[in-house]
Amino acid sequence: MIGTQTPKISIVLPVYNEEAGILATIAALEQFISNQDEAYEMIFVDDGSVDASAQLIKQARLNDDAIRLVQFSRNFGHQLAITAGIRYATGDAVVVMDADLQDPPEVIPAMIKCWRAGNQVVYGQRLGRDGETWFKKLTAKLFYRVLKRATPLDIPLDTGDFRLMDRRVVTVLAKLDEPGPFVRGLVSWVGFKQTAVTYERHERIAGQSKYPLNKMFGLAIDGLTSFSGLPLQFSVWAGAGLFLLSVVAFIHIVVSGTAGESDLLLATLLLTTSLILLSIGLVSTYLYRIFVSSRKRPLYVVAETTGFRQVQHYPNY
Ligand code: UDP
Ligand code: MG
Repeated sequence: MIGTQTPKISIVLPVYNEEAGILATIAALEQFISNQDEAYEMIFVDDGSVDASAQLIKQARLNDDAIRLVQFSRNFGHQLAITAGIRYATGDAVVVMDADLQDPPEVIPAMIKCWRAGNQVVYGQRLGRDGETWFKKLTAKLFYRVLKRATPLDIPLDTGDFRLMDRRVVTVLAKLDEPGPFVRGLVSWVGFKQTAVTYERHERIAGQSKYPLNKMFGLAIDGLTSFSGLPLQFSVWAGAGLFLLSVVAFIHIVVSGTAGESDLLLATLLLTTSLILLSIGLVSTYLYRIFVSSRKRPLYVVAETTGFRQVQHYPNY
């Protein structure tokens, strides 16, 4: 566009062993970008892939210098890959999306429109999720609802990391240095004007999900423990309830004076023990977060970067 300065949009894509589909993703993005007015850059963060993902991205860069690559020294996890991508992005707005085309690029213009209308965060809200197991859909649905109740923050329902963020939000996010970051929660924490665009989440174009159950569980625990103290209160309530129960059981034993009450006592004892263990587990989870922050290790280590004019690193590692 002549005479008007086109703001730049950075697209951040975390990549972990995506060799099967990465070229199709790049091709789809290039096709999409060629039909847009805005200037774009694509920042791929290779999260320690052990396949050819990084080589394929470097090859693609030979024909398109809007492609940039940050390579981690090992697998640090999806949320840290996003964190790094956000820190390297130079755009006026930053869009985060999966590298498997599950988040359709066609939604980006709608996000940009909402951004231009004065919103600083435009998040993609999933209407449906194609090709995902009933287990994943159910647990995800449940998780977002529990999280919503557990925190005073307005963390939107059924919303992943696919979103557009204004530079003002990105600047704040880039400075946060919290271990085990739950990025979508942090974005809500930053505030500003936030709105949703809805979309249908597609199936992966290729390869398998890189989110096995343990990673999904880890993300859920990070989300809950970094944004809610409610689980800690559970022990207080459970303790009070069980105390009442034991008082009732005790009175019952004294009043009735019959045999067999020992069973009841035993059952109460078991229940109490299990709840004590559960409470200790909860406390340890929060303690672990404090322990991790006290180590003051960098969140991730970058091995190599390709395509950046200047190295801009928030802590310098
Ligand atoms: N990913 C990553 N590091 C990981 C796991 C996943 O960078 O440890 C990337 C992955 O390549 C993809 C995005 O994060 O671009 C989301 O992962 P995935 O598609 O496997 O999750 P799902 O869509 O199945 O929830
Ligand atoms: Mg995916």
